[in-house]
Amino acid sequence: MFYCKKCKKPELQDRCSYCGAKRLKEIKNNDEVFLCIKGPMQTAMFEEMLKNNEIPMLKIPRFSFPASTRMFGSVRGSEFKIFVPFGALDKAQDLLKLFGEEENL
Ligand SMILES: [Zn+2]
Repeated sequence: MFYCKKCKKPELQDRCSYCGAKRLKEIKNNDEVFLCIKGPMQTAMFEEMLKNNEIPMLKIPRFSFPASTRMFGSVRGSEFKIFVPFGALDKAQDLLKLFGEEENL
């Protein structure tokens, strides 16, 4: 398994299928990989869930809206891209599934 640093994506070959980068390095357990995109509320809740399972996570805002932006009376926050270490990806995906099920209740 290889890893594209730029896209934060695991790859089966040493070439990124996203950005086309070549000669990728082998993935390490502490390389951050993309997990999902969540809204601000879900991000906070999911972060807590990961924390309880001792999985570190990285969140990067996807869009940023000015704090004063209001649509139909509600303040729109930005969505976050959530990344977890490759070594914890399986567990994080399980948690994400659980989280999604809870969310749909
Ligand atoms: Zn890439």
